[in-house]
Amino acid sequence: MATIFSRIAQGEIPSYKCAETDEFYAFLDINPLVKGHTLCIPRREVDYIFDMDDDEIGRFQQFAKHVAQAIKAAFPCVKVGEAVLGLEVPHAHIHLIPMQSERDMNFSNPKLQLTAEEMQATADAIYREFMK
Ligand code: 5GP
Repeated sequence: MATIFSRIAQGEIPSYKCAETDEFYAFLDINPLVKGHTLCIPRREVDYIFDMDDDEIGRFQQFAKHVAQAIKAAFPCVKVGEAVLGLEVPHAHIHLIPMQSERDMNFSNPKLQLTAEEMQATADAIYREFMK
């Protein structure tokens, strides 16, 4: 059975799209730690990121870099932090989180409550920067 993230990448389940290529897809985390918290995934189903071969993980990281640059342009921050957990969803994903301080990378923090309009505007701002 397809993972929830595969179904998101295929458009079967709605998401707030931030960036895409033939091979990868980026969308807002539904429970963001901060505004702009984005997930990058490969369209191909692979659970554990470190099972990717060297070339694929290289391309994945390059995609994440371009998304991070778009996030930072849209939402000025000290740096965009990157984290890989994968404890909840068995489909490799990179969390990109615009940080003002290291506290923003604490996954135990309460999650932001954004309206659908705020989520859409956030994703659109990142997408516009990614496409520049
Ligand atoms: P992890 O697997 O890295 O521990 O956590 C999975 C992350 O994916 C969580 O931050 C969670 O909020 C996010 N997530 C889980 N299901 C969905 C979903 O259906 N849509 C979106 N946009 N994010 C999700």
